[in-house]
Amino acid sequence: LNRQDILDALTAPDARPLFRSAVQARRDALGDVVQVRAILELSSHCRSNCLYCGLRRDNTKLERYRLPPEDALETARRASAAGFGTVILQSGEDVREALGHIGHLVKAIRDSTPMSVTLSVGEWPREALATWRMLGADRYLLKFETSHDDIYRRLRPGRRLEDRLGYLRDLRALGYQVGSGNLVGLPGQTLGDVADDLLLMQDLDLDTWVIGPFRPHPDTPLADVRSLPVDRVKDARTQVLSLDLLDVVLRCVSISRLLSPRAHIPGTTALGALAPEGRLRALKVGANVLMQDVTPAAFRARYDIYPGRLVGDGDAWERFGAAARVAEEAGMTVQECPRAVEPRGTP
Ligand code: SF4
Repeated sequence: LNRQDILDALTAPDARPLFRSAVQARRDALGDVVQVRAILELSSHCRSNCLYCGLRRDNTKLERYRLPPEDALETARRASAAGFGTVILQSGEDVREALGHIGHLVKAIRDSTPMSVTLSVGEWPREALATWRMLGADRYLLKFETSHDDIYRRLRPGRRLEDRLGYLRDLRALGYQVGSGNLVGLPGQTLGDVADDLLLMQDLDLDTWVIGPFRPHPDTPLADVRSLPVDRVKDARTQVLSLDLLDVVLRCVSISRLLSPRAHIPGTTALGALAPEGRLRALKVGANVLMQDVTPAAFRARYDIYPGRLVGDGDAWERFGAAARVAEEAGMTVQECPRAVEPRGTP
């Protein structure tokens, strides 16, 4: 698919042929099988100040926490016992966590469970990334959020898109399986920008493609996103914000599947927050991964990255069961994630 094909797919009056092709592509490449991954949120502290994120440094309303390391390990072990094949260790860019606990936790999980470990903890020096890889981290998730340089600079003060892409290249060179992706519905973003995001994901040859809807957080500068001036877009009809966001994201999921049939593509928790059946619908248009929050209940609601998060009830067993029911409703079966041991490069 070229850029025009993608734009045509994003704007076709009837999306059903696109959705059908994507499901067929997934079936041919991977079968109708869902991987269920556990998310464990280690810390809501962040040194960064991204305008779209509830964890941003300047959000003084947030009650921050750090998960005690022994609780994190115990929760990971319970997730493994419940059937999860992968745990995603997620955190704001918390210097104390990065310097102290992450490496130990990765090693302890790898030593005591058969799970793969994915890190989603932000931008850190290559030496830290290499150490975590050496200690057993298999995958790294680092979304670029937008391929549009101006939007990126505006929304991530002090950060540069080219640096982000450099981190993604480093991660690949260190032997990680790499996940990345975008936010759909950012202020000023057009369908052309979204098409460019998808082409960048293809260019990066990602193992996991993450397409998330932008959800304005009330305690951020983007709270009232629709009232923001959108200076770079002359024609309001091309703005993603003026469209049905769920529909655009579902089309992106399908297009992603066609661009990379063997990729792991989640029906994100943010999509579940956007629409009650968002994740189910993602599976029905080509996604193959569900992520379930297993963070201990006392902390789960405090990782307030965007509003209406799908935190769910219960412990790891209940969370795994809930995902299995969504998969079943989509006519798919759940597979424990195979351990990601095949490096893509040389550490
Ligand atoms: S998006 Fe990540 S780096 Fe940016 S403020 Fe949120 S947690 Fe921090």
